[in-house]
Amino acid sequence: MTTQAEHERAVVDAVPTGLFIGGRWRPAASGAVFEVEDPSVARPLRTVADADAADALDALSAAHAAQESWAAHPPRERGEILRRSYELIHTRIDDLALLMTLEMGKPLAEARGEVAYAAEFFRWFAEEAVRIDGGYAVSPDGKDRLLVMRRPVGPALLITPWNFPLAMGTRKIGPAVAAGCTMIVKPAEQTPLSMLMLAGIMAEAGLPDGVLNVITTSRPGAVVEPLMRDGRVRKVSFTGSTAVGRLLIAQSAQEVLRVSLELGGNAPFIVCEDADLDAAVDGAVQAKMRNIGEACTAANRLYVHAGVADEFARRLARRMGGMAVGRGTEPGVEVGPLIDEDGRGKVRELVGQALDGGAKALTGAESPPGEGYYYAPTVLVDVPADAALLHEEIFGPVAPVIAFDDEDEVIAAANATPYGLVSYLFTENLRRAFRISERLDTGMIGLNKGVVSNPAAPFGGVKQSGLGREGGRAGVEEFLETRYLAMPSP
Ligand code: NAD
Repeated sequence: MTTQAEHERAVVDAVPTGLFIGGRWRPAASGAVFEVEDPSVARPLRTVADADAADALDALSAAHAAQESWAAHPPRERGEILRRSYELIHTRIDDLALLMTLEMGKPLAEARGEVAYAAEFFRWFAEEAVRIDGGYAVSPDGKDRLLVMRRPVGPALLITPWNFPLAMGTRKIGPAVAAGCTMIVKPAEQTPLSMLMLAGIMAEAGLPDGVLNVITTSRPGAVVEPLMRDGRVRKVSFTGSTAVGRLLIAQSAQEVLRVSLELGGNAPFIVCEDADLDAAVDGAVQAKMRNIGEACTAANRLYVHAGVADEFARRLARRMGGMAVGRGTEPGVEVGPLIDEDGRGKVRELVGQALDGGAKALTGAESPPGEGYYYAPTVLVDVPADAALLHEEIFGPVAPVIAFDDEDEVIAAANATPYGLVSYLFTENLRRAFRISERLDTGMIGLNKGVVSNPAAPFGGVKQSGLGREGGRAGVEEFLETRYLAMPSP
């Protein structure tokens, strides 16, 4: 009988760890590799190929060469490849989830949830592929006919973060395939394994050579910039930090690339005095603790009406303080490790600074002993208004609860951030729900709900949280150009 450790090893070793270029696996031309770490034990997990700029340009040549024939593929065939990929993902869900837990740390149940969610984008965009259409118009003077056509924008560069290693990829790959774009995917250096496995699955599903190319690298800046400036890339779609998003906007200027950006967030979570408190606590646990708090959509600031704030904070602390922290592969674990020592260091620093400023911890505010980058679920009250954790992404399991008295005050506080990704609102009063929602400056609002993501919805933010939308009908639009043909009326 194989032990759990042997099983984990076998699944990790089965992942092809070369670069996937033009339908073939190959090492980096230099032969370089880099290490991927298991954050639950702070030990190396596997080495993968370390691409340099020349490897990346090879991937681009493959994508460029495949673009014309791929665009000519019938939409239904493109959709069927996505549909087969969706089905194959489900047959491999255990291995994909385990890989993701090992490379990223999230508990196995959440990793399975992410794999299923990631696959849903393929199912959704399989159905969107056949609905891409244009228009036909008569000019106002009746003398011309105008035929509006859509076509793929061209080879796309897709750059993904480590926190949702698969879903942030399929949310881009799905619409790119549906639209008829070829692509180069550059997964985050912390979590390339599940994306490499996905590339193999899509090839098995019949994706033609050169349509999807995957390059892994430990030097993202050095690899991405030459691609941005090459001229053959026509679109960049990025999910990650606002700092790197800004850099990509600057780099995109030279070739006037189409840019979609899903960037950071600083989500307010508002609980009114009439809210169903049980539902609000459940929603807060979801919005805060999903993905160990390492989500752009994580509730970052919990504003609770003064009449119920103490009770809410007490209940939240009881729930969060009772969550099982540990290695994501262990049964019953609800909170895995943070991604690395930098991530944990940032959380420690933010909490330490808030405590120094007078905040009180109802639970947590410590790292459990032992290996791995763990941090205990933490609830803070009496947080000073200038504490850095209210102004930047915490990216960890820390919930600051802030009491408020009136609606105008809480809306102003919620909007006082350069980010605008998502907000959460708990109230049983319909008029109040609409009134507040209309004034919240975010791309998405969870009303009595702690999770907003859905393949059918146009996910995205306003202000410094990004440009463009992913998912829904809007997702495929990001990978299409609109053109028209004008001709004299017959
Ligand atoms: P990051 O910006 O450091 O990295 C994201 C990706 O960019 C990685 O693939 C990385 O290798 C690459 N990258 C890093 N430096 C680069 C450079 N100079 N040029 C080109 N590419 C470069 O972000 P992260 O730490 O991996 O992810 C966390 C961030 O992502 C958070 O800010 C989070 O809010 C955000 N995020 C946003 C969404 C969303 O949909 N809005 C979803 C998930 C994560």
